[in-house]
Amino acid sequence: MTQAPPRPQLAHLTAALDELRAKGTHFKLRILDDQQAPVCHYDGRQVINLASNNYLGLANDPRLIEAALVATRAFGVGSGAVRTIAGTMRIHMDLEEKIARFKNVEACVVFQSGFAANAGTVSAILGKEDFILSDELNHASIIDGARLSRATIKVFRHKDIAHCEQLLQELATQPGRKLVITDGVFSMDGDIGPVDKLSALAEKYGAIMMVDDAHASGVLGRNGRGSVDHFGMHGKVDIQVGTLSKAIGALGGYVCGSYDLIDYLYHRARPFLFSTSHPPSVAATCIAAFDILEQEPERIQRLWSNTHYFQGELKRLGFNIGGVTTPATETPITPIIVGEGRAAMEFSRALFDEGVMATGIAFPTVPERKARIRAILTSEHTRAQLDQALETFERVARRLGIR
Ligand SMILES: *Cc1c(COP(=O)(O)O)cnc(C)c1O
Repeated sequence: MTQAPPRPQLAHLTAALDELRAKGTHFKLRILDDQQAPVCHYDGRQVINLASNNYLGLANDPRLIEAALVATRAFGVGSGAVRTIAGTMRIHMDLEEKIARFKNVEACVVFQSGFAANAGTVSAILGKEDFILSDELNHASIIDGARLSRATIKVFRHKDIAHCEQLLQELATQPGRKLVITDGVFSMDGDIGPVDKLSALAEKYGAIMMVDDAHASGVLGRNGRGSVDHFGMHGKVDIQVGTLSKAIGALGGYVCGSYDLIDYLYHRARPFLFSTSHPPSVAATCIAAFDILEQEPERIQRLWSNTHYFQGELKRLGFNIGGVTTPATETPITPIIVGEGRAAMEFSRALFDEGVMATGIAFPTVPERKARIRAILTSEHTRAQLDQALETFERVARRLGIR
């Protein structure tokens, strides 16, 4: 497609893009030519893939593919309506019951994405007289949900329990409800949210406790049950959000909690009410994925063993993988701190040219001067692939003068 001459109505967009180009942080989408696998092809180049959230290799597991095909043949490709009109299929209910049992909660509702689950839930359960206490590094979908709720947003410093408590104390005489919310795993640094301490605080002040386990689902806790299981906080967290789009390998988000929470969301969560439900293939895929989580814990062990190996080697090579002026990773999310946005983007491009796909991340996604490469391990990477990636990191960093 050739570009038409710019229309003055959208000139501000062109100007903003020019500014990104000047800063060196403008990007083009990389296009995957085959499957989301440890070695695959982006833009026609074979790369070791360290950019995917396909933690357990389920996105292309033959059993999930088969489940999707069987469901498609039996039930078609689309659900035809929103859940509340005519789009609730038996298989949607089967998936929700499966997740509720897995998470050891009363009930579960699935949304079209994790983003929709967070934004739809936070905006539905609070109103403008209420308060949200949110970690400064919480995901964009939580922030959007908080804004949509019109509640007052109080941001506490990253994982700073004392700061969160101070804010709760300041609000003690306010009649509105309070919601304490944290990511279970923070997506840019890979550190674990203090779900245990925040839950205790929420309990003490009578606040609602909510956790977004997008990067913890399938990664933390027994069989990947998430951060609440990791901390042994069953029954202490009112609302658990998870995603079906990362370790589970397909697409979707879910909310777990009490019967009344879920029934309320049926009636008030806008993505549930106003956007069509998943195709049956997605629900069937996710059911098969939870079976695998239950039956093959060795996948999660491989994920962690790859993580420890890769992070240990990066440290040995002298890379800054966080922990000094940025949080220390505790999960397969591996930040390699570079500093300036332009340098991180250049590093990422050079790695790609040498056959390693690892995302460059710059301001505003991470703070200024904390730009980085983010590498994510999966259970399916072989030691040889990881060694080759490490050798490439070493060689390219030396050439670019990064470390
Ligand atoms: C990825 C992510 C989401 C969104 O999940 P999707 O299913 O991709 O929409 C929400 N919260 C966090 C912390 C995430 O990392």
